[in-house]
Amino acid sequence: MSEYDYDLFVIGAGSGGVRAARTAAATGARVAVAEDRYLGGTCVNVGCVPKKLYSYAAHFHDSFEDAGGFGWSLPAAPQFDWATLRDNKIGEIKRLNGIYNRLLDNADVRLINGRATVLDAHHVSVGGETVSAAKILVAVGGWPWVPDFPGKELTLDSNRVFDLDEFPERFMVLGGGYIAVEFASIFNGLGSDTHLIYRGDLFLRGFDQEVREFTRDEMDKKGVNLHFDTNIECIEKVEGGLRVTLTSGETREVDAVLAATGRRPNLEGLGLDRLDVATSGDGKLKINERFETSVPSILALGDVTDGPELTPVALEEAMSLVAHHFGETTPEPLDYERIATAVFCHPNIGTVGLSEEAARQRFDAIRVYSADFRPMKHTLSGSSERCLMKLIVDDESDVVVGAHLVGDEAGEIIQGIAIAVRAGLTKAQFDQTVGIHPTGAEEFVTMRTPTRR
Ligand code: NDP
Repeated sequence: MSEYDYDLFVIGAGSGGVRAARTAAATGARVAVAEDRYLGGTCVNVGCVPKKLYSYAAHFHDSFEDAGGFGWSLPAAPQFDWATLRDNKIGEIKRLNGIYNRLLDNADVRLINGRATVLDAHHVSVGGETVSAAKILVAVGGWPWVPDFPGKELTLDSNRVFDLDEFPERFMVLGGGYIAVEFASIFNGLGSDTHLIYRGDLFLRGFDQEVREFTRDEMDKKGVNLHFDTNIECIEKVEGGLRVTLTSGETREVDAVLAATGRRPNLEGLGLDRLDVATSGDGKLKINERFETSVPSILALGDVTDGPELTPVALEEAMSLVAHHFGETTPEPLDYERIATAVFCHPNIGTVGLSEEAARQRFDAIRVYSADFRPMKHTLSGSSERCLMKLIVDDESDVVVGAHLVGDEAGEIIQGIAIAVRAGLTKAQFDQTVGIHPTGAEEFVTMRTPTRR
């Protein structure tokens, strides 16, 4: 009999925590999970899931406009009702919370409601009880972070933007990352007069430069007001809204300001500082290949560590962690390169592997194949939306080292391309693949002449 109450005590029932708990329990380990908010974490409650539902809602705006060229007329101008969308979303999230509860229950994982505090390397206090565990997994995720400026308390963060009582007719978002461009597209599509404020000269730093420029132009065409090289100086409450003063000197009145300025590890009050658990410069927990922190019985994964802040990464990490600590063989270390990702701005971005700029730094010579075209649908819709596709090839090996797409359903398309890029397939093998006609995606196997080297 073990000297501990549990083999694994998980703090945080988000995507990574729940997956680790269930997978460990399936090996016969005795597992408990502590959660003080909602089951499913950021992704299910205030991230990927509700964001995608709102993105679908926003896309209807374009669909209504596109329909005319195909012979459809609407009996009246379409009306959008925020409360219906918000409340239907709330219902769906409740359903998913229930599913997470049942998943834990069916896996024989004990769920404890409460914020856990780590007492020492093997003890946790939660809900007035002290429990011991051979291993403690910190899977508490991140929390929105907002820089200091006068009136910062008047901003919304991405936890609060989903459940607004009133629809913001005039919407502003600060930031130039995933959340900023996605919410600018969502509220623009739903009908808000939308402004995006970004401190640099072009948003989506780290993405392929051509993708960033193309996305800027497409979002601009859709009516998002983009303000680059600008920051928020201060926000004041005024009659009927908020007055925002920008560093450019401009002032603008809006109904809501979303600060999408990044997320930080949600470690406050967890007690890890008492144990001197090592963190990196930005406060994230340092871990080794086995997901062990500097205190080896305390493990960590997901957004609280240094990897990409993406749900599927946390899920992979959870399975790898369980294989390391409860499995019979030592798994290969996780490969964080060539992880595909999508940004659900409008149009969507899908990307896997290296940007053109990163590939130029890594390889002596590259070939770039790109296509910028008007999708077939828009020949009749009248929309001016375009699509960008791009392959980056290492000239010496012919391996496709990057694939990028800006256009309809980019996330759906890049998922398939990601398998090929991850498998290290060559451009010649892409070319041997017969296209599917008529699709936009067939360009990925029909681009034959390099655009540049
Ligand atoms: P990001 O880190 O992606 O972006 C933060 C943005 O805020 C950057 O543009 C940054 O500018 C800007 N910023 C930072 N500090 C300041 C400041 N002091 N003043 C003004 N601007 C500032 O964070 P997000 O909040 O957008 O998203 C968090 C993470 O969640 C993402 O990195 C992503 O991993 C994940 N996510 C994934 C999604 C998906 O998979 N589709 C969707 C949403 C989130 P700069 O670039 O100049 O540093």
